[in-house]
Amino acid sequence: MMRPGKIVCIGRNYVEHAKELGNDVPTEPLIFLKPPSSVIADGEYIERPPQSVQVEHEGEIGVVIGRRLHRVSEQEAVSGIAGIVAVNDVTARDLQRKDSQWTRAKGFDTFCPVGNVHEGPVDLDTLEVITTVNGEVRQRAGSAEMVFKIPMLLSFISHIMTLEPGDLVATGTPAGISPIKAGDMVEVSIPGLSRVRNPVRDVVQ
Ligand code: ZN
Repeated sequence: MMRPGKIVCIGRNYVEHAKELGNDVPTEPLIFLKPPSSVIADGEYIERPPQSVQVEHEGEIGVVIGRRLHRVSEQEAVSGIAGIVAVNDVTARDLQRKDSQWTRAKGFDTFCPVGNVHEGPVDLDTLEVITTVNGEVRQRAGSAEMVFKIPMLLSFISHIMTLEPGDLVATGTPAGISPIKAGDMVEVSIPGLSRVRNPVRDVVQ
């Protein structure tokens, strides 16, 4: 299983998603971290913790870093990409609303399903991400709709913290987030490139 040194996530990077939560689109990227301990692989259970009654999927396009990126330009950032991966930024929405820092809401064990890494060349402007729950499409969008595009995000982050090989950047979720419950099957796919499919259960106490 993938174990990135750090997972840097982007909040509110699609206009319609910012709106659905009643937020404005930020004027510069809004970043936060998920702990590496939240990562699970394809097929593993997403576990709903007892602290939350509203756990939701967030299907996202993930970027795996291939070389050290320290204060790089957008162009340099693109050459440092090792691969593209489907990511589910699972979120306890009720706890996110309660807390001004999102570490708890985003950081539970099993809250970061990560798919297979696609290492071939890709067109970063035409990536698509689709999230289904029990086969029904809930989220569907393209990287062209991102407020801040992938090269800009990587350059921006690299001017704050050095990105290391193996680090993962989750580029934000489009509109259509919805609650998941025990028994559901959630799938995030970047068609033709990467896919992660996970059943959901409640934490066994
Ligand atoms: Zn997210």
